[in-house]
Amino acid sequence: MPKTFDHWKLPAALAAGLLAGGAAGWLAGGRVAAGVALVALAEIVLLLTRIRHQARHMMTFSPSAQSLKHDRFMTRSRRIASSLRDLRSAAGSLPDAVVLLDNEQHVRWFNHAAEDLLGLRRPQDRGAHLDERLSTTELAGWLKEGAHEPLNDVAAPGHPNRHINVTLLPFGRRQRLLLARDISHLTRLEQIRRDFVANVSHELRTPLTVIHGYLELIDPEDVPELAPVLNEMRAQSKRMGQIVEDLLTLSRLETQEHVQDERVQMTPLLATIRKEAEALSQGRHHIAIEATADVDLLGSVKDLHSALSNLVSNAVRYTPTGGRITIRWRRTPEGAVYSVTDTGYGIPASHLARLTERFYRVSSSRSRESGGTGLGLSIVKHVLNLHQARLEIQSEPGQGSTFSCWFGNERLLAQGASDPE
Ligand code: ADP
Repeated sequence: MPKTFDHWKLPAALAAGLLAGGAAGWLAGGRVAAGVALVALAEIVLLLTRIRHQARHMMTFSPSAQSLKHDRFMTRSRRIASSLRDLRSAAGSLPDAVVLLDNEQHVRWFNHAAEDLLGLRRPQDRGAHLDERLSTTELAGWLKEGAHEPLNDVAAPGHPNRHINVTLLPFGRRQRLLLARDISHLTRLEQIRRDFVANVSHELRTPLTVIHGYLELIDPEDVPELAPVLNEMRAQSKRMGQIVEDLLTLSRLETQEHVQDERVQMTPLLATIRKEAEALSQGRHHIAIEATADVDLLGSVKDLHSALSNLVSNAVRYTPTGGRITIRWRRTPEGAVYSVTDTGYGIPASHLARLTERFYRVSSSRSRESGGTGLGLSIVKHVLNLHQARLEIQSEPGQGSTFSCWFGNERLLAQGASDPE
């Protein structure tokens, strides 16, 4: 019998450790850590059940098994097994789908939410190869490619009209834990928000055009006493019109999944951007171009023009008179970088992470005075995302800023080569 007792100690210690781990994970808000601990505990329940059977078997054959010591052992063992059963059932009823996979991606265990969201069935899917089981879905491709990054906003295999975020976590000895969270309500809310903004902007467009048109008809010289009022009304209606146009551009970019693949000729584009910057600067800045990359871009001419010139227009608007603005186009080992460096006001580090949010401004008055809508950098970010490029911002208050757009090799075309099909 002491042998049985020793067997009991190990899983009990493990259980206590994992219980603590689960609780700590839960308290720390780490639902994933708690989920892992819960599944591990479920495994231990199975182990303890086996030990209990063994103890019962021994009691039947050994008269000494009737002793008080073994009664205590049985009581404790039953208590632990019951707690572990509760924990296993808690893991089973988690709202997120949990699937425990072995090192070859065979399904070892899954909870009720996995049946619902992923369409897994008991008992036939126990032991099934998960990527074969989900073979026709986006999830299977992701699993085959190694599932290194979380997969966001995909159709749930068990419910094609629901959306899920999926993560694959290493667990135990070369095992994996697949977690899927239903985000359908968030996707729906996001869609409602997008439709609302697009509809409001669309509805505002016509009345604004009418107001703007009438304001243009009235010549301030005909009514000199109203001239300051008229000029202010014109400026504000123009600003509103620009906000509406920017919101409509953002709505379009948000719903768009791909861009048209056209050749974006960089030499003429850089020349146009420079001309636009000079017109905006009205001779107040020194503007230079340093283009050393002899490559063009592959993407949308209209959207890239808007994004790249927006960075230059910001540089002009946020650099005091006499400042320097340098536009660069250069190769890197991974592709090419378009950057705009200014010697302007700069941006404190605490604002950098939020600059691409809609209507986020470091200084609202400065943005308004310079004719900003607060949407420019959001548009830049969306355009770059559609071209698999990223925006990097470096800035030093009082010294200036550099906004860089990093494009990968797959977006580059040799200058002079034939155009994409
Ligand atoms: P806005 O229309 O207000 O310029 P953006 O989205 O283009 O909107 O920029 C967001 C904010 O980022 C701006 O309001 C400004 O505070 C800051 N910003 C952008 N570019 C620069 C720059 N080159 N130098 C300093 N601040 C900048």
